Amino acid sequence: MFLPEINNLEIKKVSEDILLIHQKKQPFFFSCCDGLLILPKKGRNNSTISLDLNIEQIYVNQLNDIYGPVSDYVCSHGHLDHTCHVHAWEEIGAVIHAPHPEAKYLLDLNNFYKGFGFDEALDYETVEKFANLNGYQPCDQVKIFNPGDILQFNNYKIDTISFSGHSKAHVGFFLPDERVIHISCLGFDKPNPEIEGFGPWYGFRDASISQYEEDIKKAEKIFIQKAKFLTSSHSYIVKNPDIHPFEYMRGKIKTNQDKVDNAQNLPHLKEKSENEVIEELLKMDLFFPKKKLKGLVFEIYRFWEYWIIRKHLKRNLNFKSKKF
Ligand SMILES: [Zn+2]
Repeated sequence: MFLPEINNLEIKKVSEDILLIHQKKQPFFFSCCDGLLILPKKGRNNSTISLDLNIEQIYVNQLNDIYGPVSDYVCSHGHLDHTCHVHAWEEIGAVIHAPHPEAKYLLDLNNFYKGFGFDEALDYETVEKFANLNGYQPCDQVKIFNPGDILQFNNYKIDTISFSGHSKAHVGFFLPDERVIHISCLGFDKPNPEIEGFGPWYGFRDASISQYEEDIKKAEKIFIQKAKFLTSSHSYIVKNPDIHPFEYMRGKIKTNQDKVDNAQNLPHLKEKSENEVIEELLKMDLFFPKKKLKGLVFEIYRFWEYWIIRKHLKRNLNFKSKKF
C-alpha cells in the first residue's frame, strides 16, 4: 500500500489496512497523541475508524481527504493529550465515542477541571490557559461506552480493555482480526528503542500505582497470548515476543519508588508530618525540573508531582508505619 507524505506526520503501517500515525511537532506539551486509522475493508468496516488519534485539525482534514469518510472516532480517556482536537473529527462528520466517566470532559473543560481534582489545588483560569495553549476545543456530542465494552462498527469488533491505574476511564484496545493491542497511555512512551521517556504516569488523585501493576500484567498477558503487535499513544511499534515495554514500565515505577524512598529517609525529614515531607520532597525536583519552570507550567507540574510523590509515600512501608 502506498503511504502518503504529509508534512509533520509520521505514518506507519501496522498491518495491511491499519496505520499508526504520529504528529511530530506539537503546539504545546500535552496537545497530541499517536493513534490508529482502521481503513475500510470489504465485509468488515465500510468506512474509516480513527482510534484515539488526537492531532491538530489541519492534519485531521488532510487525512480525511485521503482516507475519509471517517465514520467513528474512539477516545481512550479524558487527559488533554487525548481530547484537545477531537472536535476536529466531529467536524468532518465522525461520531465520537468515549469511555465513562471521562467522556464528559470532551464536552466541557469544567468537567475536566473538577473530574481530575484540579479544583482542589489550582484556579480554573490556570487550567483553562493550559488547555488553550494545547488547543483544547469542546465537542458537541459524545457517545459514552463503559471500559471493557466491545464496540462494533459494521462487522468489525474492537475490544476495549480497562486500564484504570492511569485514569478511571482509561482504556486500551484489542483488534482481534489483526491481533493488535493498543495500550494507549499505559506508560510505554519511547519514540524509538534508544530514547527513554517518563514511563507510567500517575500524577492525579484517582490514579493508582497498584492498579497500574495489575494493568501492566493484564496487557502483557494479552500481548503474549493473543497479539502480534503492540502500539501505544507515544511509542514505536513492538512485535511479539518482544516484552521490553512491560519491563520498561515496571522498571520506571521501581525507579520512581526508589527515588521517593531514598529522599524521605533523609535525617532532617524524620520527625515531619506527611504533608511537610511532601513539601520538602517537592522542593528537591525529584521528577520534574520545576526550578526551571515558571507560571502556569510550574503550577501544573507541581500538582502532578505532588500526587506522584504522595502515591509512592503511601507505598513505603516505613513511612506507612510512622506515627504523626
Ligand atoms: Zn493520559
